[in-house]
Amino acid sequence: MSQTPYLCNMNQVKDKIDIRKLDLPMLEKYITEQLGEPRFRSKQIWKWLWQKRASTFVEMTDLSAVLREKLPEIFSINPIVLDKIQRSQDGTIKSRFRLYDGHLIESVLIPVPSDNRYTVCVSCQVGCSLSCKFCATGQMKRVRNLDPGEIFDQVFLVNQQCLESFDRPLTNIVYMGMGEPLLAYQPVIQSIERITAPDGLNMSPRRITVSTAGIAKMIRKMADDQVKFNLALSLHAADDEKRNEIMPINEQNNLEVLQQALVYFYQNTHNKITLEYIAFQNFNDGIADADNLARFCKAFPVVVNIIEYNPISGFDKVKSSADRIDTFARRLSSLGVSVTVRRSRGKDIDAACGQLANKG
Ligand code: SF4
Repeated sequence: MSQTPYLCNMNQVKDKIDIRKLDLPMLEKYITEQLGEPRFRSKQIWKWLWQKRASTFVEMTDLSAVLREKLPEIFSINPIVLDKIQRSQDGTIKSRFRLYDGHLIESVLIPVPSDNRYTVCVSCQVGCSLSCKFCATGQMKRVRNLDPGEIFDQVFLVNQQCLESFDRPLTNIVYMGMGEPLLAYQPVIQSIERITAPDGLNMSPRRITVSTAGIAKMIRKMADDQVKFNLALSLHAADDEKRNEIMPINEQNNLEVLQQALVYFYQNTHNKITLEYIAFQNFNDGIADADNLARFCKAFPVVVNIIEYNPISGFDKVKSSADRIDTFARRLSSLGVSVTVRRSRGKDIDAACGQLANKG
């Protein structure tokens, strides 16, 4: 893990261009027109930024010394910096990162050696505006979207962590940390482009899942954009009244609208869709709830992932018992729905689903 010292360099960076916000044609324009350098220099810089994650221009040793001095006069890089790391008894590792403007975000590495699966859960916003009642991040107000480079950095640095701790690279990336990815659409898409590009990290988009609380028009946009990654919808109730109670976003994006958007997404991409479903005792885990959920699932191929609830303060529901989850899952299976039940990871360090809140 990089230990670059943190410099609160807001004044230094605010009048410079964040070089990682540029696409390659824009970078080429600056390099050739403003700096008078040959075009191939931009490709060299691009690889330093997106393959090797250079966090300073001094590191770019195949550039001329003169260019290495000129670049920081115009551009900044703004890397994220590790602020704190916590290790759970179950192997989960939570990292807190500091952004160039001092804000904090979290990422979680979830190792499952028995399945050879090493997943990073990344954040895409500082805080979140959607206020889902069961989520600690939802209790923080949204401050800003992350930049593409700040999302990319989480993947790069947690991949290093994974290599150091488990001698394996990451196998999966999920956008399920702090924030709603479809409300940070541009930086999310740009980060995925860099992560999957051959001149970036060259990871497969099939190993990436973007999770939404349910912004129907953006699900349709992803379909129109022909994205290659997988989609997860945090459903948590298949009844509008119950979903409104725990997820205010459902009031503008009700179940029927969401279902139609998912059908559209599937028809246009054929990408995998998962429904995330946190089971709350005597709220959404009964037989009638399973029947509603099965009806919702009929319209497109899907896997339902039942998740154990991780308590946060200020929310009155409790997690379902193992027996109720079992009965619920069996009912879904009997109705032809593919179901998995996921045990929670990293609870002892507040790294489990819905618990990310920069607590400490
Ligand atoms: S569950 Fe996701 S969308 Fe909802 S408040 Fe938490 S971070 Fe935001």
